[in-house]
Amino acid sequence: MTAEVRIDAVQHRFGSFTALRRVDLTIAPGEFIVLLGPSGCGKTTLLSILGGFLTPTEGRVTIGGRDMTQVVPKDRPTTTMFQDYALFPHMSLRDNVGFGLRMRGVGRSARNAKAEEMLAMVGLADKAGRRPHELSGGQRQRVALARALAVEPEVLLLDEPLGALDLKLRRQMQDELKAIQRRVGTTFVHVTHDQEEAMAVADRIVVMNAGRIEHCGTPEEVYMRPATLFTANFMGEVNRIPVTRGDGAGVGSPLGPLALPTPARGVLCLRPESVGLSGDLALGPARLVEAAFFGAYLRAHFAPLAAPGMRLVAHLPQGTVLAPGAEVILHGRNPIVLPEPEAA
Ligand code: ATP
Repeated sequence: MTAEVRIDAVQHRFGSFTALRRVDLTIAPGEFIVLLGPSGCGKTTLLSILGGFLTPTEGRVTIGGRDMTQVVPKDRPTTTMFQDYALFPHMSLRDNVGFGLRMRGVGRSARNAKAEEMLAMVGLADKAGRRPHELSGGQRQRVALARALAVEPEVLLLDEPLGALDLKLRRQMQDELKAIQRRVGTTFVHVTHDQEEAMAVADRIVVMNAGRIEHCGTPEEVYMRPATLFTANFMGEVNRIPVTRGDGAGVGSPLGPLALPTPARGVLCLRPESVGLSGDLALGPARLVEAAFFGAYLRAHFAPLAAPGMRLVAHLPQGTVLAPGAEVILHGRNPIVLPEPEAA
């Protein structure tokens, strides 16, 4: 079961505070969408509006073509999976997973069969008789997922579903979550503030800031071609170089003229992995200030000779040998030039 979700001009106010400002978003059936942004940007508010726990102050939500704006959670084709899983400690995993079906009047043998099918899907077929306290954190998370999917929602809403897990398990569960979503084909809307997690699971990432959508795109789009400086910074580390309209030789910058086409003032953004000893954008001579071995790459800080107070961070290939003080010609790749944000 899967459905398209449309969010049209949704606004939400808590008293005089505006938590969501005119949010428009269409989610395709079967899509894995991640709502990503810093604490307080409105992710949970938007998820709660999709689940029916909040009615938006303005705007409309349709799911599968049906207007859901005023519909209560139990009458929506959605299920919400909360971070604390809310499993019943006194019930077996089979009964936990079958609980939603029991509430819908499904008989014991049919719901046990469905619960066992769902437990098998999340790799816990042999543990159906256990209680939640006999499981690890990752296993409990899988039971919660099986329970949410057992009622065959058209849309599954996940609020920080991996937040309680340690980093290693979290990374492993991300892969599993994505694989399960592909298998069931349900539309997933997943909230997180972890950009790596977003990139690991999402078909499209919705980057939110102060109640607005800053950018919505594939992980590659929001990382490589961010629409705003906020998105560029939020998606990962970035070197920022102010640029101004040039005189024909390129744009003006503290490093000297750069061979970039840009019509106006802005900020040149270069990811650390796009700065190095080769590339199509010459950045001029620079001196190595310090470098550290990070396993997959050498993280180096350079001071451009033209702007000695500036620092450019580069991720150089493993095995690069450079001593502090060494002078190199720096180059860049994949330049992103963005307008400066409007003054508030
Ligand atoms: P986090 O990652 O910390 O959970 P979030 O992006 O999910 O943050 P929301 O919970 O959607 O953020 O909250 C958005 C804003 O609305 C915050 O500034 C929050 O303080 C405010 N807010 C949320 N719920 C209420 C409420 N019931 N009453 C008043 N303000 C609220």
